[in-house]
Amino acid sequence: MDLKRHDFQLDELVEKIRTGDHRLVALQLPEGLKIQALEMIDALESKTDAKVIIAADPCYGACDLVHHKMQMMGVDLVAHMGHSQMNIDSGMETQFIDVTYDGVPELAPAIPYLETHRKMSQERLTNNSVEEIGEDEAHERFLDAVGRATPLSDVKLGLVGSIQHLHLLNNYKEMLEDAGFDVVIPTGGERLTFPGQVLGCNYSGDDPSIGHYLFLGSGDFHPIGLVLHTGKPLAILDPYTSEAGEMSLEKIERILRQRFGLIMAADNAKSFGILIGEKPGQMRRSMALRMKRMLEKHDKKGYLLALEHVGPELIDFYPVDAFVNTACPRIAIDDSVRYAKPLLTPFELEVILGEKQWEEGYQFDEIP
Ligand code: SF4
Repeated sequence: MDLKRHDFQLDELVEKIRTGDHRLVALQLPEGLKIQALEMIDALESKTDAKVIIAADPCYGACDLVHHKMQMMGVDLVAHMGHSQMNIDSGMETQFIDVTYDGVPELAPAIPYLETHRKMSQERLTNNSVEEIGEDEAHERFLDAVGRATPLSDVKLGLVGSIQHLHLLNNYKEMLEDAGFDVVIPTGGERLTFPGQVLGCNYSGDDPSIGHYLFLGSGDFHPIGLVLHTGKPLAILDPYTSEAGEMSLEKIERILRQRFGLIMAADNAKSFGILIGEKPGQMRRSMALRMKRMLEKHDKKGYLLALEHVGPELIDFYPVDAFVNTACPRIAIDDSVRYAKPLLTPFELEVILGEKQWEEGYQFDEIP
């Protein structure tokens, strides 16, 4: 990643520190930007009277805001960089700082993927009946498990991106329309700040008129979540490398097979650890309590475990048969191989207990 091509927009922060007469500021950055932190501290301390502390714990999203522990340290402003504000209150004054990247890749390499995907969604629209299928067949048709839950009404192209590329979306919308696509930049729910924004745990902008997607960004994280949530084909245009690609449906099917394998592995489990995230935007206490009550109803035990960070070394040793995770939904989806026991999403536990049916469609665990 070429950090020099990112705009860290520190001037607004300097202004904020000066006008608020802030004296102790916590600087919170995503992992990939931490390498720049010392340079930023030098800049901020030379232009203001504040002292700056790096919030050095891992930070993967705005769900993970610095909160009361830093307040106890006397921090009077949090500067949170590279993520946008979400619908949570950390209890501390927080300035969100946009980070944008200046790469503008050619659209042409993405066009063949988009044309293929539009054709796929047109075919799906034509055969748009949500079929009733039996349990055995459902277990053989993993990818359909997602698609069945999201019937189509149109084949529009949904244009989305990760936060540092969102400023490009309107230009790309025009270019795509010139290339003959019917484009929509989806607007999601309260957890999302900007049109076209996606989070690893929230794809609420999806709607039945969208038949396929173009994602501006890099890596598999958002593409996996979006396809797992929607079952719709997705092309990727990476502003860092200018390369185009697609999220392979085989990969999504592999993930679904793995999820189903974990459901089967935990089918006879009698006791579960229920993980509650302590991070402000991951805390789903009511859901965790609902899981505990549901387990009791089915004569199984549920033990509530609260954690700031979730990791195998912190939970594997508990003498339970499986875990259900109500913290960041991506821990179960992306990291379950690291755990010695099945690590399930709340929906998957409901399938095990017979409260939900796999054949009615796989439900991605979303935080609204
Ligand atoms: S995917 Fe996880 S880390 Fe990212 S915003 Fe959602 S809860 Fe936070």
